[in-house]
Amino acid sequence: MSERVYNFSAGPAVLPEAVLAEAQRDLMALPGVGASVLEISHRSADFSAILAQTTADLRTLLNVPSGYQVLFLQGGSRLQFSMVPMNLLGEHGQTADYVLTGSWGKKALEEARREGKTQVAWDGAETGYDRLPSDEALALSDDAAYVHITTNETIEGVQFATEPEVGDRPLVADMSSDFLSRPIPVDRYGLIYACAQKNAGPAGVTVVIVRDDLLARAPDGLPGMLLYRNHAENNSCYNTPPTFGIYLVGLVAKWLLHEQGGLDGIDQRNRDKAALLYRVIDESNGFYRGHARPADRSLMNVTFRLPDADLEAQFLRQAKEHQLHALKGHRSVGGIRASIYNAMPPEGVDRLSSFMQEFAAQHGS
Ligand SMILES: *Cc1c(COP(=O)(O)O)cnc(C)c1O
Repeated sequence: MSERVYNFSAGPAVLPEAVLAEAQRDLMALPGVGASVLEISHRSADFSAILAQTTADLRTLLNVPSGYQVLFLQGGSRLQFSMVPMNLLGEHGQTADYVLTGSWGKKALEEARREGKTQVAWDGAETGYDRLPSDEALALSDDAAYVHITTNETIEGVQFATEPEVGDRPLVADMSSDFLSRPIPVDRYGLIYACAQKNAGPAGVTVVIVRDDLLARAPDGLPGMLLYRNHAENNSCYNTPPTFGIYLVGLVAKWLLHEQGGLDGIDQRNRDKAALLYRVIDESNGFYRGHARPADRSLMNVTFRLPDADLEAQFLRQAKEHQLHALKGHRSVGGIRASIYNAMPPEGVDRLSSFMQEFAAQHGS
């Protein structure tokens, strides 16, 4: 086995070793199939079984109620930025409300603006996207077609702990970077989307969970590939789906269900990991400055700064010597970002927290 470092990449990101080992073992031939998952028809009984099991395991993990479809699409979350308004904004002149808590929400809004009427229900720009709105602060349209949120802003490191109150308006969530990290009340949402490469699998597959009644909204004339309804009616096989990605998401789901105690189990581990790093930040006498306001901190992406850019560069260099990789913050905000998704082992976070303490002791106050 090659030496694996502790990989804090924001995405594509670390995957469970057990999943990689199983995929490697079965890459030449799936047991009982005699060919690789890469080589079989998406309409074969063997692949249909993989698709059905992956769907069933996601439904179990997330406790998806009946009346919701689970779809496997391509194009990443960026395509969802367009597909959501194309399908849900419809032709009735309604408005889509966007809650802007960071960079990804802003990008989602940019695309929605091309498709119809939008309204910013809240914007955290003034304080550099370091916090989330209270329910009272949301300026929602009376008959909003939907309200769009980003449950976890991957770049700034702010995360909704619970759903905002939006009344009867369908809540649409970009869950790209905290999907499968904790239990969620799916019935509070009209639509959830998540590209897989942060927390659920490889790049190339995007999971969409959508309430049945919303499927009917799409206007006539959308390209077939962009119509959720087509994917739902064809069980994600309207065209060739990303078969390898679905297979890998299936392995991740199985790992969560059978080795991590489901989403309750992984949630506890994720909370413990994040608490360790935030404690080091809070006890560093200001050497490390967390970006997010403590109440709104992300359990997935821990973002912080050091006293100056030179120290940050030195931090990154020395971290790498300790096998702690990919800690550089997003180019738009700088600083340090430790992405500690489901598959980041607790030992990796232990190591990082020790390193942070040593580094602060050497260079700090
Ligand atoms: C990574 C990310 C995206 C973009 O996903 P792509 O698959 O690259 O399109 C969108 N939203 C959030 C919250 C992300 O973390």
